[in-house]
Amino acid sequence: AKQRGKANWVRFTPEMERPVVADAQLGAELRRGLENGEFHVVYQPLVDLHLNRVIGVEALVRWQHPTRGVISPIEFIPAAERTGLIVPLGRFVLRETCMQAAAWLAEFGPEVLQKAGPNVSVRQLHDPDFVNDVRAALADSGLPGELLVLELTESAVLRGHQVSRALHELHDMGVRLALDDFGTGESSLSLLRAFPASIVKLDKSFVDGIEFDEDGTPEANARQAVARAVIQMAGALDLDTVAEGIENEEQAERLRRLGYSLGQGFHLAEPMSPAQVAAMLADQRAI
Ligand code: C2E
Ligand code: CA
Ligand code: CA
Ligand code: CA
Repeated sequence: AKQRGKANWVRFTPEMERPVVADAQLGAELRRGLENGEFHVVYQPLVDLHLNRVIGVEALVRWQHPTRGVISPIEFIPAAERTGLIVPLGRFVLRETCMQAAAWLAEFGPEVLQKAGPNVSVRQLHDPDFVNDVRAALADSGLPGELLVLELTESAVLRGHQVSRALHELHDMGVRLALDDFGTGESSLSLLRAFPASIVKLDKSFVDGIEFDEDGTPEANARQAVARAVIQMAGALDLDTVAEGIENEEQAERLRRLGYSLGQGFHLAEPMSPAQVAAMLADQRAI
């Protein structure tokens, strides 16, 4: 392996002045990391807010860098997208998630594990092999398509005909699609008519501070209005809803009263290792 001194290290931030140079270096690092098995997946439980039970997981990638420690996806996903390395990286996360979810399903059964899925970048949707990769990951793992939830952002879904065809093919395979960060993009409502989603995830920015709505500030009113509108729309369109980024019990309680039945957030459970997920699922089975 090539020796590199500390002084050569480039900090991977979006503010970098020369993204082309930075991307080339980070791209090489990412490629090396993929080859060396430096990436792994952690899982954040999806929790039933009424029963207080885990019903699924979101898969989140982590980079265990040999000298820098664990690097957050916020630092490397954008460059992985720009360099195209998100395609092999995303394929790794997809396969890993399907294998892991199939193992949990075999151990705990379909009442305990109902949904599992990775985030998918627009660049992956443009890859002509993507639908086949998903089909192969399901076949090789034995995971039923109905359990797989692919999390997409609105901007990804808005990208034209080829993406739309891929999404409909996935839908026809029984795979479920979730609209991530819902409420932050453009034209959320009209999008849902064209997009075969079965889940919408209310973005954390609408959950932050939602417990203070009695104050009646314009911001608080707007947050609550969006949270309410998303629930009403989801009900009308027969979509499941997940509230993201719940950090305290007051937020969970407010969201329950607004009609949310599923949530994610550090208050409920942080992203964790497969062994930790299995321990939570085993605990639940014991009750
Ligand atoms: P996201 O899809 O919106 O995922 C939720 C992020 O919020 C995760 O950060 C999660 O750890 C964090 N989170 C969960 N609950 C809370 C909470 O209560 N408070 C706060 N402050 N944060 C919370 P993470 O794992 O750092 O991922 C960041 C983003 O990176 C993700 O946002 C997603 O857009 C992207 N990402 C992560 N893994 C992958 C991947 O495998 N592929 C792709 N394409 N993107 C990924
Ligand atoms: Ca997500
Ligand atoms: Ca999200
Ligand atoms: Ca996000």
